[in-house]
Order: sequence, then C-alpha cells, then structure tokens
Amino acid sequence: MSLEGQHPVNLNTLYQQVILDHYKKPRNKGELLVDPVFGKHLHNPTCGDDIEVTVNLDAEGKIEDVKWNGRGCSISMASASMMSIALRGKTPNEAKSMMTAFYGMMKGEAGTYKSLGELQALSGVSKFPVRIKCATLAWHCVEEGMKEREEIDNKGGSANG
Ligand code: ZN
Repeated sequence: MSLEGQHPVNLNTLYQQVILDHYKKPRNKGELLVDPVFGKHLHNPTCGDDIEVTVNLDAEGKIEDVKWNGRGCSISMASASMMSIALRGKTPNEAKSMMTAFYGMMKGEAGTYKSLGELQALSGVSKFPVRIKCATLAWHCVEEGMKEREEIDNKGGSANG
C-alpha cells in the first residue's frame, strides 16, 4: 500500500467539494408530481435538521423517483441529495442493502463501500459521532417510510387474499 493510500489528503479535499456541491446545488429537492408510494418526515433535534423524503415506485416495484424537502446543515442536505440519486432504479431490497452499507460506513466499520459511489464522500463523518445523525436522517426517512408501507401492504394483502 502506498503512503498516499494511507493518508488520502487529496481525497478528503475532493470529498469536501462533493459535499459542498450537493449542499449548494441540491438534486431532486422538491415534491413528487404524483402521490408518493411511501414517505416520511423526520427531525434531528441534535442539529435541527428537518427532512421529508417521498418515494415513488414504478410498475415493476423499482424506485422510480425520490424527492426530498427540508433544511439543515450541509451534511444532512448533501446526504439527502446524494441518496436521492443513488436510490433511483433500485428495488426496495437493493435500497435496503445500500442503506445497510451506508450505516456501516457511518459506524466506521471496515469494508469497501464502492457500491455507494459518490456517497463515499460522507465517509469522514464516521469520525464525528454527533454528525452521524445528520448524515443518516434522510436514510431513516426512507427506511421508516418503507417499513410503514410494507406493514400496510401486508395487512391489505391478507385481508384481500
Ligand atoms: Zn446536521
């Protein structure tokens, strides 16, 4: 392993730029044009971040669109923006795998997180426990919204079957 690999100073600068870019030019911020299949509004009292995420699925059950709204610190906003791009086209199970990987990266668990793509820019947040809640807020919106939807579907499915 090279010294650069162990001390990725340039990489950190690049990561900062990615986070700032998403904060200044948030992607997919706004409202869905259709009623969301699921969504959730959550608040992070530690920092004051406030995010609502709404998700629409296509006919095959894949995530067709992710929109989010809210306000908060650069980490919470950048994470929501990057997540909204990353989750598009994923099945709910793929989205859950990505969620697990992201939480793992936030906990500083050893592993490669190449599958997270641009979201790896947030890996440095794992060193600041207070900020982890900022980075994971939008993800918890998707996780809890998805769980609520599944519970409704399960009840509906057994009743209609
Ligand atoms: Zn925050």
